Amino acid sequence: MSLRDLPSVDSVLQTPAASELSSIYGRPLTLQAIRHTLENCRLSHKQGDPAPGVANIIQSAGSILDSWTAPTLRPVINATGVIIHTNLGRSPLSAGARQAVLETSLAYSTLEYSLSSGKRGKREKHAEEQLKRLTSAEAALVVNNNAAAVLLALSALARRKEVLIARSQLVEIGGGFRIPDVMRLSGARLVEVGTTNRVHLSDYENAITDRTALILLAHHSNFKIVGFTSEPDLKDLCELGKRFNITVVHDLGSGTLFDTAQFGLGHEPTVQESLAEGTDIVCFSGDKLLGGPQAGILIGKKTVIERLRRYQLARAVRPDKMCLAALSATLLHYLKDEALETIPIWQMIAATTEQQKQRVEAWIAELGFGTCVPGESTVGGGSLPEETLPTWLLALPVRHPDAAARHLRTTDSPVITRIGQDQILLDPRTVLPEQEADLLSGVRSLRDQVISS
Ligand SMILES: *Cc1c(COP(=O)(O)O)cnc(C)c1O
Repeated sequence: MSLRDLPSVDSVLQTPAASELSSIYGRPLTLQAIRHTLENCRLSHKQGDPAPGVANIIQSAGSILDSWTAPTLRPVINATGVIIHTNLGRSPLSAGARQAVLETSLAYSTLEYSLSSGKRGKREKHAEEQLKRLTSAEAALVVNNNAAAVLLALSALARRKEVLIARSQLVEIGGGFRIPDVMRLSGARLVEVGTTNRVHLSDYENAITDRTALILLAHHSNFKIVGFTSEPDLKDLCELGKRFNITVVHDLGSGTLFDTAQFGLGHEPTVQESLAEGTDIVCFSGDKLLGGPQAGILIGKKTVIERLRRYQLARAVRPDKMCLAALSATLLHYLKDEALETIPIWQMIAATTEQQKQRVEAWIAELGFGTCVPGESTVGGGSLPEETLPTWLLALPVRHPDAAARHLRTTDSPVITRIGQDQILLDPRTVLPEQEADLLSGVRSLRDQVISS
């Protein structure tokens, strides 16, 4: 067949098979897919391929339509053992938070409406009152994420002024968030103090000028300085700030309301501790160790928070109703002292090693293959670098680990795994109980590739 035999767009579109595609995908998109297919046929004809018939054209258009309309944001099963996995969407939401999101998205809501007065209400009231109650902070402000919180604080409080920050804290957090770059963007001038490994209170004091507006403390995030190191006490720094009338902002990154040490992990500085030491503003993420939706939370002194609220940038980074619904429901778990039992990431952190072993053994009993080996889970999300929780893993020795991992990723319920010593390793700690059946059916389809011991 030559190019002249290639059917016209209209003649393809008029076939019953194309009508069927139109009824599924709509006429405009179907038309676009047919055009796209015919264009491809012309190109491959130039390479010497024969022109295809109508049936083949429809079939290609059908696969193109499938791929154009397949969702790109899909749920996955996280069997990596990294609890706050930024690439996998950080914290899964609690049942309460999910319900709140659903209800708020289905109907109109009291986002900025007061039922008692029948007048305009405040968006601020939803999560901010709860944050104050939980932390005893004077005031709170919720923004889109913690990067926005840091940018807002620097812009509103230190534009055209100087900000002191320890050299040891000039870090890059995942996703290209670099403290020096954010500083530049805010219009604040960065003044580095101390050395990479050691920073003293006197380094801060000596750097203070009449242009100094702010001292910024940033969590080192996913990076740890060991050896001959020191940073001044937060309390001393806050006193220095007070003495010179300089605002102290603490970017906690993950920010936890619980002490992680009770779970055998290192101590991650808590939000309450930072406030108690006297910081003016503490900021942290909503979807790291808080276990809620993406959000940036700023809490602290009322006068400072009000300055941030009034600054125009605050309007550009404000949270939406779904975020506020999920955040408020998450905070309610903390208020009711039920967070450890209801928030998925805390359930994962609190789960014992023995419980992990029982889950893996139950999986093996169901599958009839695989072995139970000791391993380590990590918290992730830039908190507690180098810290691990002991766990048990389902290990599957396979001939081609990369191919097997790809196979698990591309099943209907994608399973994300680790590979170690030529084995596929699955950590039950990050697998939600309701995902177990899907996980097992994915793993079962690997059976032929598993080398029996
Ligand atoms: C994660 C992190 C941020 C950025 O928070 P997002 O909520 O991802 O915007 C900022 N600072 C520190 C120290 C962090 O760990």
